[in-house]
Amino acid sequence: MRSWPMPQLPELPGTGTGPRVLDSRTGRPIPLPGPEVNLYVCGITPYDATHLGHAFTYVTFDILIRVLKDAGMDVQYVQNITDIDDPLFERAEAVGIPWRELADSQIGLFRSDMDVLKVIPPTDWVAVSDVLDELEENARHLIDSGSAYGLTDDSGRTDYYRETSDADFTGEYLAGIDLIDVFRENGGDPDRPGKHHPLDPMIWKGAVGDDFRAEGEKPGEWRPGWHVECALIGHDFLGTTISVQGGGADLLFPHQEMTSIHHRDFDPPVVATGQMNTGLVAFEGEKMSKSLGNLVLVSKLIERGFEPMAVRLTLLNHRWDSNWEYTDEQLTLAERRVTRWRRVRHTGGAGAGELLATVRERLSDSLDTPGALAAIDEWAETNEHNDDREGAALFDDMCKTLLGLYL
Ligand SMILES: [Zn+2]
Repeated sequence: MRSWPMPQLPELPGTGTGPRVLDSRTGRPIPLPGPEVNLYVCGITPYDATHLGHAFTYVTFDILIRVLKDAGMDVQYVQNITDIDDPLFERAEAVGIPWRELADSQIGLFRSDMDVLKVIPPTDWVAVSDVLDELEENARHLIDSGSAYGLTDDSGRTDYYRETSDADFTGEYLAGIDLIDVFRENGGDPDRPGKHHPLDPMIWKGAVGDDFRAEGEKPGEWRPGWHVECALIGHDFLGTTISVQGGGADLLFPHQEMTSIHHRDFDPPVVATGQMNTGLVAFEGEKMSKSLGNLVLVSKLIERGFEPMAVRLTLLNHRWDSNWEYTDEQLTLAERRVTRWRRVRHTGGAGAGELLATVRERLSDSLDTPGALAAIDEWAETNEHNDDREGAALFDDMCKTLLGLYL
């Protein structure tokens, strides 16, 4: 899928150190030895693009890529688009337009939101609709090898499930989660009679008869399972080593866990050495979600006259792994910050070399963006009138390359 333009990344003097980022599951540092890093980030289901929760996730991985590149590493970055899924079909039905039209318009909106927020595009942006044949072949292989089984309903449709009786759901990071409840809330069907294990994930929702895609039927009447899609796209586009598997914190279970199970079905298996799940964004006291109708959309903020760089700065003002609540006031403060930094770029600039070292140091410490922004504030305060044109140019380049702030 065509993504969006690569933002300009001016070259900076010297190199940064690779980031030390803690795995969301274990709390231990993710090994990122380089020189190549393979990153997989779960993409959108294109029907409510792009709310601030999405934007926070994609800006987080954008910062990770910037820091890795600054340390001289080469990043292969794959993101999917779940353009074949029930919530999309349901929304299309509710608003009375063909699902493909809805998906395409939402993909277009996401593309333009990522462009204005200066997010680095994925190396491969892969739509599920582009890998249906591969998904079907993979599902057939799982069935043939005895790892998956079919269940037929009264209408004669057969759905296929991956066995999880051999899976281990006892990781400490899953403690305290009611797995069955969360699985059900996320579109799973733990109560379906005949399932070998309540948590078995669907790998293919079948067509009438025991076929996968019946003639004349469209996606919606059949579809692949969500978790297996991400596993297959990761495998096909990144190979068997994924350095970081990323997404929002709400994907920890079941999505990331089930994706890991599917990863093990490949021969040789895919190993995702690290997992980063970004914090959730709330609005008016509740987690931002379509079901609650409290989504704050990037495009609406920009329509209201807020500038994209202030939106980006608002996101960067929160640690990637913490949950936070959005208020308009934060955006207004971010606008003031942007204005101030622009002014300093014209009147100050001295000490930018030291600032670059501090910002690099902050970002290498688990992508501490709030710390990096605070360091810039402090520098701006001290150096507002210490004019140094070379320093000002370095400050401008640093903001672009490391923070994606195009002042
Ligand atoms: Zn995914």
